[in-house]
Amino acid sequence: MSSTPHCITAADISAAAEILAGHALRTPVMTSHQADHLTGAKLFFKCENFQRVGAFKFRGAYNAIAQLSEAQRKAGVIAFSSGNHAQAMALAARELGVNVTIVMPNDAPETKLAATRGYGANVVIYQRHSENREEITQRLAAEQGLSIVPPYDYPQVMAGQGTATKELIEEVGPLDVLLVSTGGGGLLSGSAIAAHHWSPGCRVYGVEPQAGNDVQQAFRSGQPVRIPVPKTIADGAQTQQVGTLTFPIIQQYVEDILTVTDAQLCRQMRFFMERMKMVVEPTGCLAAAAAMNSLLDLRGKKVGVIVSGGNVDVDKIAQYLAMGAQE
Ligand SMILES: *Cc1c(COP(=O)(O)O)cnc(C)c1O
Repeated sequence: MSSTPHCITAADISAAAEILAGHALRTPVMTSHQADHLTGAKLFFKCENFQRVGAFKFRGAYNAIAQLSEAQRKAGVIAFSSGNHAQAMALAARELGVNVTIVMPNDAPETKLAATRGYGANVVIYQRHSENREEITQRLAAEQGLSIVPPYDYPQVMAGQGTATKELIEEVGPLDVLLVSTGGGGLLSGSAIAAHHWSPGCRVYGVEPQAGNDVQQAFRSGQPVRIPVPKTIADGAQTQQVGTLTFPIIQQYVEDILTVTDAQLCRQMRFFMERMKMVVEPTGCLAAAAAMNSLLDLRGKKVGVIVSGGNVDVDKIAQYLAMGAQE
């Protein structure tokens, strides 16, 4: 494997944990007898659906803005996001007294648009299938002197995301396996570094939607692969290409990338609702769906499952649950 140092280390995750103390929530770890019975494993669900703004993204956003210089914070920040990073940036910026602009796709879920505006962010809408969000963001940043905080490919964001796994291991002890949902790889890279450091020997797997398996293709071919915008209900994992900073960490510290179907995500949403009384968004179900559909033999293993988020349009929940009903 590459001997180039990675852009973050466990020390950066510890530093992020200190910055986040008193600002991000230490989310609960839940268990389920039924889930353990079905898998033959002991599953520990780290419930970031209960994090502030309803997803782990608050961790990375807050850590990133907090580490900007005084001058940068005065000028303001800008981010592009399909949703949870937007809300996270909006709330974190508000708490840190920093002006924030968010570039969001026209098809972002209504709840996410409303929540982002509700936190006081200036929202700029772009057409997901015809416009380039990075170009728009860069132009606005240059015109207004704003600092760009990307959703995953940014060291302080990756380190912030890694704090969820640090907390999980502190709470339940070393793990045999850790399953993590994956879009651009910010959560996975931070989680993998944390697991490697605080639970050496833990095998870390990323989980993607089957329709958007760009990270799996990249992992297996050894180089980043670009795919069209994937059609999946996992809107938080509709990224087209793994990050350039996240990928080398994934290559070194992750065992493999697994995929699950939208039907499996709907069944998992139903399981969380029925058995654990939790609302989890489709993307937040990726890791758990991999565990519960026997993609790995987990029998006798102690398994961490990152439940990454809980933001889903309330009007769509019934439809997803119906799709997840067993025939
Ligand atoms: C953003 C997001 C992901 C994917 O995170 P990456 O860091 O882009 O890999 C997974 N789940 C939820 C709920 C998200 O919001």
